[in-house]
Amino acid sequence: CTRQPEVRVRFAPSPTGFLHLGGLRTALYNYLFAKQRGGALILRLEDTDRVRLIPGAADAIEDMLEWAGIPPDESSRRGGHYGPYVQSERLQLYSQAASSLLHTGHAYYCFCTNQRLELLKREAQRSGHVPRYDNRCRHLQPERIQEKLALGIPHVVRFRLDAGAEPFQDLVFGWTRHEVAAVEGDPVILKADGFPTYHLASVVDDHHMCISHVLRGSEWLISTAKHLQLFAALRWSPPAYAHLPLLLNRDGSKLSKRQGDIFIQHFREQGVLPETLLDLVTHAGSGFNNNRIGRRLDELIQEFNISKITTHSALLDLDKLDEFNRVHLQRRIEDQQMCVELWEELRQRLLQTHGSDISDRAVLEPHYIQRVLQLRKGHICSLRE
Ligand code: GLU
Repeated sequence: CTRQPEVRVRFAPSPTGFLHLGGLRTALYNYLFAKQRGGALILRLEDTDRVRLIPGAADAIEDMLEWAGIPPDESSRRGGHYGPYVQSERLQLYSQAASSLLHTGHAYYCFCTNQRLELLKREAQRSGHVPRYDNRCRHLQPERIQEKLALGIPHVVRFRLDAGAEPFQDLVFGWTRHEVAAVEGDPVILKADGFPTYHLASVVDDHHMCISHVLRGSEWLISTAKHLQLFAALRWSPPAYAHLPLLLNRDGSKLSKRQGDIFIQHFREQGVLPETLLDLVTHAGSGFNNNRIGRRLDELIQEFNISKITTHSALLDLDKLDEFNRVHLQRRIEDQQMCVELWEELRQRLLQTHGSDISDRAVLEPHYIQRVLQLRKGHICSLRE
């Protein structure tokens, strides 16, 4: 990567599920950050967990970003100079990086069997400790390694964690330090099937895709120490990091994907406007000088201020959905161009619902429907009403 001064951020979901409000929020903050600085948003699909893949999820995620009005600038659908944008098509890059780490002694082959790892785990649990790999294969003699490789014994590659973590400055959480080697065993970076784990793939891609800033959920904050060690071992300069606080329900409970009603597709089917969702999600959190209802995307871009993101969790109030939608519907009705689109949509709905019952076709005319909309704006929360 010949790092350019431009801002390049990425949204990197795993296609193991559909886009929900938490994911939309991460994508949106990345989008706002990029657009404010004339930068680019990259959609990267992290599909290395082959077991949990959901067919159709990758396409559906991009469809929802497009519907929400925050499409990526680069993706496998849109193309770009830094592809492929799907991790399973980039295996060569990960194995190159793993080889280079093996070569410089920052990584090593591990031949421990699943039974041994299971045993370590059970022993730790029995003695009340957090399970961790004991780094046994760090100490294998080179001849033993060659022997095992020649015999074709299944193996993984592990990264040698350094004791003594360097602090780093997160754009949201400030100076942060996590002594990862003190609490974790050396992590696997390349699995037995040749697929990378998240940590290696993410670092390699952030480097090769010239990512300048990583904006992601705060659940990844403690992984960053590991990522920075990987960057240093590969002699690459890392991006800047900004970890976004969690998005929770109003009562502080976790948004559960099992609730079903946090998926973007669901809101779309309910007639929620995309700008309503963007406004609701940013309203729940921080990142703005003031909090007012009714901001559209161009205003969000203009008013977003990353230094205003606080470390508190963002509380989402879904009971306000109708109120937000009412405000945004009113704004659409007041916009001439958008009002024409609303007329077209409403006409279709009328025809579908009442069809041949409509005796006076004049009620389908634009000026009639638009007058009704003007009269009802500020009162109705959705076109269904
Ligand atoms: N694939 C990870 C996720 O789904 C990406 C985390 C990151 O942005 O580094 O959350």
